[in-house]
Amino acid sequence: MIRFSGVEKRFGAHVVLSELDFVVSPGEFVTLIGPSGSGKTTILRLLMTLEKVDGGTIEVDGEFLSHMDRGGELVASDEKHQRRIRKRIGMVFQQFNLFPNMPVLRNITEAPVRALGLSKAEAEQRALELLELVGLSEKVGAHPTQLSGGQQQRVAIARALAMRPKVLLLDEVTSALDPELVAGVLGVLKNIAKTTDITFLCVTHEMRFARDVSDRVLMFDNGQVIEEGVPEMLFTRPEHERTREFLHAVI
Ligand code: ATP
Repeated sequence: MIRFSGVEKRFGAHVVLSELDFVVSPGEFVTLIGPSGSGKTTILRLLMTLEKVDGGTIEVDGEFLSHMDRGGELVASDEKHQRRIRKRIGMVFQQFNLFPNMPVLRNITEAPVRALGLSKAEAEQRALELLELVGLSEKVGAHPTQLSGGQQQRVAIARALAMRPKVLLLDEVTSALDPELVAGVLGVLKNIAKTTDITFLCVTHEMRFARDVSDRVLMFDNGQVIEEGVPEMLFTRPEHERTREFLHAVI
């Protein structure tokens, strides 16, 4: 579960998020859409504790990254608490960021061995299962440079899942891919969303994917959610003029 309540984020004088409220329920797949620069990536970066929040409450899986005390003062969680929250969150980026000098298997086992304390054998067993899930069992010994972009992204997804996240954040995961490779990656994510209880928060410009996989879509503009709904509603009968303009421009 993810909850933002009255969240504010500024960069200097520039207010990027203002009084932002939304909830992603456990196991739900929610996609954020909206114009470039509207603050979508900032939301994911706040969850990853890569940015500091300026106000409001952010809750992840029952833990608070920040909250307001009775006097209305912001209370941010300490570093130890943040680490605990980060452990529950996986992230897949536009750039796959695999370790170039390690074969696929080790790319997936490295973090669970180091950060979760799994034995090498346990981590390898789990990695093999995940490679099967993402359709890359035959690439277990390959190096990232020997893989297509789509295959590298599927390894990156397996690597994120190896940490057994409760929440998976997806930031433009198909933007760097050739068009013919996009469907394979999206198919894998759709399958994971259907077969696990992971909570997904996704930022994408791929409207077809957003429509296909999301339980709910949030239209985001000027630091706030201006409209939300199930994809059939939001994409076919948007109520807000700004949503209509945006969809008209991108579809
Ligand atoms: P896009 O769809 O293009 O990725 P976005 O909706 O994800 O855009 P963000 O990347 O969250 O938008 O950026 C929101 C705003 O915050 C932008 O105006 C951006 O220039 C600004 N911003 C983001 N990071 C910083 C930073 N570290 N310092 C200053 N301004 C920043």
